[in-house]
Amino acid sequence: MKPVAGVIGGGVVGAHIALALAKRFTVYLIEKNPKLGQETSTRNSGVLHAGIYYPAGSLKARFCVEGNALSRELFSKYDVQFASSGKYIIARDETEEFELEHLLENSNRNGVSEMTRVSMKKFNETFPYLKARGAIFSGSTGIIDAADYMIALAALLDRNNIEVLKPCTALGIVAGPKIETNRGTLEVDVAVNAAGLYADYIAKSAGIANYEIIPLKGDYLATRSFPLHVPIYPVPNHVHGTLGLHLTPTFSSEVLFGPSEMPCNRKDDYTIQTSFNVFYESLQKTFEPAILSNIELYEGYSGNRPRAYYMGKRCEDFTIIEHPSSVIHLIGIESPGLTSAPAIARHVASLV
Ligand SMILES: Cc1cc2nc3c(=O)[nH]c(=O)nc-3n(C[C@H](O)[C@H](O)[C@H](O)COP(=O)(O)OP(=O)(O)OC[C@H]3O[C@@H](n4cnc5c(N)ncnc54)[C@H](O)[C@@H]3O)c2cc1C
Repeated sequence: MKPVAGVIGGGVVGAHIALALAKRFTVYLIEKNPKLGQETSTRNSGVLHAGIYYPAGSLKARFCVEGNALSRELFSKYDVQFASSGKYIIARDETEEFELEHLLENSNRNGVSEMTRVSMKKFNETFPYLKARGAIFSGSTGIIDAADYMIALAALLDRNNIEVLKPCTALGIVAGPKIETNRGTLEVDVAVNAAGLYADYIAKSAGIANYEIIPLKGDYLATRSFPLHVPIYPVPNHVHGTLGLHLTPTFSSEVLFGPSEMPCNRKDDYTIQTSFNVFYESLQKTFEPAILSNIELYEGYSGNRPRAYYMGKRCEDFTIIEHPSSVIHLIGIESPGLTSAPAIARHVASLV
């Protein structure tokens, strides 16, 4: 008889952890919604990140680079909608040009491949409607259909005989370890808390008191006013610690514009709250005025970044801790969590 593992949270991270444990454990995956991936895992930009931004030596840098390669293998093997589009990061003024140099240096430190400085003559010919003074290109960035990805993961869980309990809400992890749920108690040998925005509540039940997840809302608008096949990012926003409002093509020929950075009190609030002016100001900085008046924007969707704080101080990196023995918590798995998921899972499997 195999030992039993219980994973709380059927987002991209919990699904990958369940798969990574399935060879050695009988695995139960507990998800409170009727379907997998209904929260942050499908409410994001759908970009497979390269690892450009994160401090060298951080878990984000390591898991992003590893996760990029592992995800590509999975997408190709299981036919997940993915395009190896690359992406541009543009500078719109002199300070931002300086920032591009930092990003090139940092990606080099993180072992990111296919980073190049772009000839502006060529760039301006391809994107005459953008106000860019400088640009870099990341060849190892891509775009994913996150909903299709979650469907593929659900099929893989099934194929690996993982019991998915849904809808089923975990109420906490108590000594044993035991996972208490609204459908009864599950006795396990290993428990994993991959509850995304709610990982702080589950951690508290297991005796970890000082983490709090305060969502940072990211709203998207969308447009079909111009074609785009490659994401265009500004330099990162250091005030909010985000990547800034970017343009991302989707598989339905829409172009997403966002996500914004809005303080938000409720973890389950997915209404769009960012004022149109915030989007417009950013567009004004990026687009030539002639095209701007022809861009029609409509509401897209909203996602909540699971931003973690330890005793009031923001956790810049992913937090992965074991407490008590055989209980692993994943806290603050914000971007690049979609990219990093298979690498995070491999790491968690190595801990148990
Ligand atoms: C606006 C935005 C843009 C982003 N863009 C990108 C991007 O382009 N690229 C990238 O790599 N990353 C991106 N990210 C980050 C990425 O989406 C997340 O890091 C990733 O989805 C986290 O996955 P998860 O499985 O940890 O969390 P979730 O998807 O939130 O999954 C957690 C699951 O746990 C379940 N759950 C919670 N509590 C309980 C409970 N008590 N009992 C049972 N189940 C429970 C939830 O219902 C949920 O399904 C973005 C995030 C946001 C918000």
